[in-house]
Amino acid sequence: MLDVRGLKKVYEGAGRRVEAVREVTFTVGAGELVCVVGPSGCGKTTLLKCVGGLLTPTAGEVVLAGRTVDGPPPGTAFVFQEYGRSLFPWMRVGANVELPLKRKGLSRVRRRERVADALASVGLADAAGAYPWELSGGMQQRVAIARALAYEPAVLLMDEPFAAVDAQTRADLEDLVRRLWRERGMTILFVTHDIDEAVYLGERVIVLSASPTVVREELRVDLPPGRDQVHTRVAPRFAELRTRVYEQIRAAKHGAPGEAGTDTPPPR
Ligand code: ADP
Ligand code: MG
Repeated sequence: MLDVRGLKKVYEGAGRRVEAVREVTFTVGAGELVCVVGPSGCGKTTLLKCVGGLLTPTAGEVVLAGRTVDGPPPGTAFVFQEYGRSLFPWMRVGANVELPLKRKGLSRVRRRERVADALASVGLADAAGAYPWELSGGMQQRVAIARALAYEPAVLLMDEPFAAVDAQTRADLEDLVRRLWRERGMTILFVTHDIDEAVYLGERVIVLSASPTVVREELRVDLPPGRDQVHTRVAPRFAELRTRVYEQIRAAKHGAPGEAGTDTPPPR
């Protein structure tokens, strides 16, 4: 579904040159939920923006469903970290969710149905008439997720969407993402700096090094698909996997050479 090949991104301007991503290659299959984890500043947002066609890579390419990405591809939705800046404050929640649908050429009735359905899926059926600033941070982020869902994307790109919400809300939103993924069969690329979150959510975890960024390791998460916050996080296997990712990130920070390929530690 998604092929990232030799992706490199260098920011240049005003006498400053930042190599945000050096060489990143990975593949995501249709219907997979893959997490990308790496330290702050390692180029996760840059990578995701290249995947979503919001930035042009300096070298390499992104191929989505067989086509090279050279602008926001149809069928792709983005959920950003800063929910406070991703919703229009002067529009009610319903209008915010409906906005991207206007470009899809759907009838007004169909649009309204999709908005209601998406808000119901995130537990905000009653919030359509509210303004974003009347809602809590976690609710605003659920609106942003509803807006992405209403669009019915084949591919959902999420950039640290829960970094700014409290722990309880975050746990609920993580479960929401897993539920929606299982119900809707979307392909999801979820970026986070949080190792536990990556292992809890992902079917696979791609570990990035610190800048200049390369893929450090790819890890298959062989936890059962029905995960829950209480039991999964205390399972011995969860602890093994998170330790593995933690060690990779720590080693990467100290400049040790990376290992190539998929390498999941053997189950006990
Ligand atoms: P992350 O999302 O992993 O925290 P980013 O992709 O935001 O990392 O940033 C990676 C690097 O690129 C950082 O050093 C950051 O300062 C730099 N960077 C990000 N955006 C720009 C930009 N528009 N212009 C110049 N440098 C940038
Ligand atoms: Mg970022």
